[in-house]
Amino acid sequence: MDGTQRTSRLAGWHRVGRGARVEALAAWLGLDVDALAPVLASGGIDLAAAEALIENVCGRYALPFAVAPNFRINGEDVLIPMVIEEASVVAAAANAARMVRAGRGFTVDLDPPVMICQVQIFTDSPEDAADRIAEHRDELLDIARAADPMLSDLGGGPVGLETRIIDHEAPEPGERFVVVHLLVDVRDAMGANAVNTMGEAVAPRLEALTRGRRGLRILSNLADRRLVRARFECPAEALALPGFSGEEILEGVLAAARFAELDPYRAATHNKGIMNGVDAVVLATGNDWRAIEAGAHAYAARDGRYRPLSAFNRDAEGQLVGTLEMPMALGVVGGATRVHGVARLALELLGATRVDALARAAAAAGLASNLAALRALGSEGIQRGHMRLHGRSRHLARPRHTDSSTTRHDR
Ligand code: NAD
Repeated sequence: MDGTQRTSRLAGWHRVGRGARVEALAAWLGLDVDALAPVLASGGIDLAAAEALIENVCGRYALPFAVAPNFRINGEDVLIPMVIEEASVVAAAANAARMVRAGRGFTVDLDPPVMICQVQIFTDSPEDAADRIAEHRDELLDIARAADPMLSDLGGGPVGLETRIIDHEAPEPGERFVVVHLLVDVRDAMGANAVNTMGEAVAPRLEALTRGRRGLRILSNLADRRLVRARFECPAEALALPGFSGEEILEGVLAAARFAELDPYRAATHNKGIMNGVDAVVLATGNDWRAIEAGAHAYAARDGRYRPLSAFNRDAEGQLVGTLEMPMALGVVGGATRVHGVARLALELLGATRVDALARAAAAAGLASNLAALRALGSEGIQRGHMRLHGRSRHLARPRHTDSSTTRHDR
C-alpha cells in the first residue's frame, strides 16, 4: 500500500501476513518499517515503565495488537487499532466496516469534552445550601479554574456548576447532603485527575458557604455531558450472506435489535457486542476501559431500566440505519496514553492529536462490532463463523461465546 493513497479499504488484509501488514502500517504512518517493527514487537512498555505505572510489579502481560481496515468515518478513511484477546472481534469489525462503506461510512458527532466532578456536602438544610452555592457560582468556578490553569490556557476549564439534593427516606441528623456537580471541559484528557483536583480545591469554600461538611470529591463516570453519537446507513444488498438475501438479513438485524429493546438480559449481551469494539480501541490507545465500561452501562440504565446503547431501523430508501449513543470519556494526554509506546503508535495511526478522532474511532468500532454480531445472529447464528476463526486457539481453551462473530472471510 502507498501511504499517500490513504485508503483504509484493504481487501484481503487478513491474508497478507503480519510482515506485510506492518509494512503497510509503516507506509500509512510515513515511518521506516525498521523503526516501527521493534515498537510493535516490544509490547509497548519495558519493566521500568511498568513499575512507573503501577505498584508491586512482577512482570509484563501482553495482548495481541491488531488493525481493522475498511473504516470510513466522517468521510475520512481510518485504520482502527484494536487490542483484544477474543478471536473474531477484529475480523467482525473490519467486515462490518466494509459493508458500511457501501453507504457513506460512519458519521460520528461528539459533545464537548465536559466531565462531571461530584462534591458531596453534608448539611441539615440542603435547600439553603443549594441557594448559597448558586449565589457564589462564579467565585467557585474561579477557584476551580485556578487549580488547573493549563486547562484554561488550552481553552477548557470549568464551564458550569449545578446542585442536586439527594433525598433519601428518614435521614438521621447529619445524613442529608447536597451534591455539587462541577462541569469541566477537559479538552484532550480523560479528565479524572484534572476534575478531582478541582473538586478538592472547591470543597473548603463549599463547606464555608454552606456551614456543611465535605464528603466525597470525585468525578462521575456517568459522563453524560460527553456523549458520542455514531450512525451509518447501509444498503440492504451489502448485508447479504450466501443463503440469505440482504433483505432477510436486514429483517433479522431489526428483530434482534427489537429483542434487546424489550429484554435487559438480551440488552446486556447486545451492549457487550458494542463494547467488544469500543474496549479494543480504548485498550489499544492506553485509555481507562473501566471508566468507559462504567459510563456505558450506567448510561444504558439511566431511565431505571437497562437498555441497548444502539438502535437499528429501516429508512425510506430501505437501507439499514444503525445509531449508537454513549458516553466516551477518553484522552490523548494523561494516564498511560503517552507512556506506552504502542498506545502512542495507535494514536498516531488514528491521527489523534486531539481526542475527537479517538472518540470517533471507538464509537465507529463499537457500532461496527454490534452490526456484525446482529447480522450473524439474525441469520446463520453466531457460532459458525466464530468457531472457524476461533479454531486457531481452540486447543488452548474453549471459552463461551458472545456478540462478536464474523461469518465470512469476505472482509
Ligand atoms: P492527567 O492528570 O495525567 O492529565 C490531564 C492534565 O494534563 C490536565 O489537567 C492538564 O493540566 C494537562 N494537559 C496538557 N495538555 C492537555 C490537553 N491538550 N488537554 C487536556 N489536558 C492537558 O490525566 P487525567 O486525564 O486528568 O486523568 C486520567 C487518569 O485518571 C487515567 O489514568 C484514569 O485511569 C485515572 N483515574 C480514573 C478515575 C475514574 O475513572 N473513576 C479516578 C481516578 C483516576
